Amino acid sequence: MKEKDQVVIIGGGWAGCGAAVAARKAGARVRLIERTDLLLGLGNVGGIMRNNGRFTAAEENIALGADELFTLTDRLARHKNVDFPGHRHASLYDVVKMEPCVRRFLEEAGIRLEMMSRVVDVEREGEAVKAVVLPEGKRIEGEVFVEATGSTGPMGNCLTYGNGCCMCVLRCPAFGPRVSITHKAGLEDLMGMRKDGGFGAFSGSCKLDPLSLSLQLQKELKEKGVAVVRLPGEQIHREKLDLKVCQQYALPAFAENLILLDTGHVKLMTPFVPLEQLRRIEGFENARYIDPYGGGKGNSIRYLSVARRDDKMKVEGLENLFCAGEKAGLFVGHTEAITTGSLAGFNAVRRLQGKALLQLPRELAAGDLIAYANSRLSSEEGIRDRYTFAGAAYFKRMEEKGLYSVDPLAIRKRVRDCGLEGVYGKSLL
Ligand SMILES: Cc1cc2nc3c(=O)[nH]c(=O)nc-3n(C[C@H](O)[C@H](O)[C@H](O)COP(=O)(O)OP(=O)(O)OC[C@H]3O[C@@H](n4cnc5c(N)ncnc54)[C@H](O)[C@@H]3O)c2cc1C
Repeated sequence: MKEKDQVVIIGGGWAGCGAAVAARKAGARVRLIERTDLLLGLGNVGGIMRNNGRFTAAEENIALGADELFTLTDRLARHKNVDFPGHRHASLYDVVKMEPCVRRFLEEAGIRLEMMSRVVDVEREGEAVKAVVLPEGKRIEGEVFVEATGSTGPMGNCLTYGNGCCMCVLRCPAFGPRVSITHKAGLEDLMGMRKDGGFGAFSGSCKLDPLSLSLQLQKELKEKGVAVVRLPGEQIHREKLDLKVCQQYALPAFAENLILLDTGHVKLMTPFVPLEQLRRIEGFENARYIDPYGGGKGNSIRYLSVARRDDKMKVEGLENLFCAGEKAGLFVGHTEAITTGSLAGFNAVRRLQGKALLQLPRELAAGDLIAYANSRLSSEEGIRDRYTFAGAAYFKRMEEKGLYSVDPLAIRKRVRDCGLEGVYGKSLL
């Protein structure tokens, strides 16, 4: 008879991948269920790592023992040490090469991948999840579960709170909508708000086909990783800054210029621009969107499904369900997803063993972000904010608390002083 999975992870974005690696390293049999044909979710259209406080967080994770995914993103960086307005020492991974590379790594690590499988229901027994259910009725049992389904989509949310489905990388029409596991288990999710009191937020960047830009822009991006193009006066819309998820990019420079980054695609740091308008700018005469395909009209809507959890990433009200990434708070970012995912995966195995769960201390930026974001979720003001090491209010807090550092040795020492060096690297089973 086949052995039951010990840890079942729902959602294969960066958070789910982080959880899978941590749980596998801790010795568990791990199954990762993903509704599309690609791992990494929104990570297929992002690419920015190590900007501002994300550098510190990446090095903390490496010192804690969650090094593999950061090694891969560093290895596939097209550019390193890039500065752009409000951001320093960014690295930009290649969004085209990243997914197959992570997929191979997970498979080689012995993680069982269940692709194109959408969880649509949950079987609950008392305070525990017993199994998750796929559309054709197939049940997947597990001992501990991690929800990492993100907060983007389904199409109805993009229609109600945005400009309709703009055909983003999550491809709900083809693979079916995101499903909230906590909601299916009978719990109530939180919804993030915008400054104006509306729900959710537009994703803050879109992607252009590099070959659709002028040769001059292509050359600049290839050489420097970044290009800043001044917008004509009539095209400056400062109010658009309030629409975006990524408050770390809600700076005047992002309204006054088009800021482009080379991630394999050309990342345009604004939620959307009508194509006709874009094509009036020199160098963009033939511009064409590749994510979302409807980038001339709108973008995906995020942050409509956040679980209530504790600082150990366990969902409140269920004994054996953990959460990570955007599902676990109003977090923005790949680094934030891997950080929370690694802790959730590690603690899933601690729960399996009946051991005390790990809470990262507030002396580490990772521990502070997880606890700070959680404490803010109960306030009106807190659910209008977003939490990222990369900028806005949380990065300011990191600086004020002396948590920001770009010295890997000092960061490792901080982790060692907390007694946590290599903690994720030890097999628990
Ligand atoms: C356009 C854009 C650009 C971005 N750029 C950057 C960047 O450059 N740098 C950065 O750090 N961050 C960036 N971000 C933010 C970052 O990508 C996200 O915050 C982070 O990757 C979220 O990871 P996640 O795993 O929590 O969620 P997601 O990436 O949303 O992954 C969730 C996964 O769960 C799957 N899923 C959902 N429901 C189910 C179900 N019922 N059954 C099975 N599977 C399910 C989904 O298909 C998806 O693959 C960007 C975001 C966007 C939209």
